[in-house]
Amino acid sequence: MTGVLRVGRSSRLDGVQYDLRGTVAARAAELEARGEEILRLNIGNPAPFGFEVPTVIVEALRAALPHAHGYSESLGLVETREAIAAHYARRTGFPRVDLDDVTVGNGVSELVGLVLQALLEPGDEVLVPSPDYPLWTASTVLAGGTAVHYPCVEEEGWLPDLDAMAALIGPRTVAIVVITPNNPTGAVYDRRTLEGIAELARRHGLLLLSDEIYDRVVYPGHAHLSMAAVASDQPCVTFAGLSKTHRVAGYRAAWAVTCGFAPDDPFLSGLRLLASLRMCASVPAQHAITAALEHDTSLDALVAADGRLTVQRDAATAALRAIPGVEVTEAGGGLYLFPRLDPARYPVLDDERLVLDLLDAEGILLAHGRGFHWPRPDHLRIAFLPEAPVLVDALRRFGGFLQGYSPP
Ligand code: PLP
Repeated sequence: MTGVLRVGRSSRLDGVQYDLRGTVAARAAELEARGEEILRLNIGNPAPFGFEVPTVIVEALRAALPHAHGYSESLGLVETREAIAAHYARRTGFPRVDLDDVTVGNGVSELVGLVLQALLEPGDEVLVPSPDYPLWTASTVLAGGTAVHYPCVEEEGWLPDLDAMAALIGPRTVAIVVITPNNPTGAVYDRRTLEGIAELARRHGLLLLSDEIYDRVVYPGHAHLSMAAVASDQPCVTFAGLSKTHRVAGYRAAWAVTCGFAPDDPFLSGLRLLASLRMCASVPAQHAITAALEHDTSLDALVAADGRLTVQRDAATAALRAIPGVEVTEAGGGLYLFPRLDPARYPVLDDERLVLDLLDAEGILLAHGRGFHWPRPDHLRIAFLPEAPVLVDALRRFGGFLQGYSPP
């Protein structure tokens, strides 16, 4: 007699959602398998669009590879953590970072999961922006917590509504997530906004979780400010890495820095325990981090006034604004625009359907706004990574598609 296989999907995954790599991406892969060409404006993956690995990083990796085949300490190589600590020492107001404050990870994605699992009791609430980068909501739910979304206001350059945020704080709230520069909106939070959030966290004893993966992808007229530099006496975890600033998303190279904790805080021992369960981050990627932080300045030219990313942002913004009934806030940082489709002109009920229909009709892949925990089907996200002429052509075709679109 054989037993019935008792394998199923864990109920811990109920409510865990990550639409960015879901139905729409699967449809795009299907079309590509049939030989169709798809323009992927749906995710922030610079490599396919001709962004090369900075030479100093490749050279450092080449030199390190023959010696990078052993595990490192769970928190990361000493030299890599030293480079990360030195990187923050150069940032005005950022609290002193010691080696034990740094955890190197296989992408911010991994570190967000580790931190939330180390932190949350079942039912604990985490304040997450709406729109968010959906990893934050998914990882909160997976760790047994509840994501409570605070609104960011389009008319105010997508800054968070601090009164609304305050009103959402309850007895189970334990942390506030801040994403600056923001994905998907492009907002770069100013000092006043960060101080307001830090004050709420201080008053209610909340941990600040600051996702700063776009910290150096900042366009002229804007300046990135770290949450930890504003809240220098408060517990704060800062997340950053090489995926975007150094255009090497596939290397899976990132770090989390803890500031403002007592050395014996149990959260820290929990985080270290979880870091040790996955042994260590990829050691070659750690060498890439060391080289990147010590020597690479190639991003500066890309975000200068006439830099490639700035030119692409401007071209995409203008092309979107040329479409009747489409409005978009200029991105101060990051790689995305989050335009609004006027519901009076485009009465879309299902934004994911719209994205699928656009994909089928034009071979252009965007991301639907509700995938970012935005409550209404009236926004889309566009990654402005292709060269400007490609973006302009794609958005002109998108405009044409919209004019003739009647939602099913
Ligand atoms: N945080 C934000 C805001 C992001 O946009 C992304 C990726 O797009 C990540 C985290 C994940 O980054 P990583 O490649 O380091 O896992």
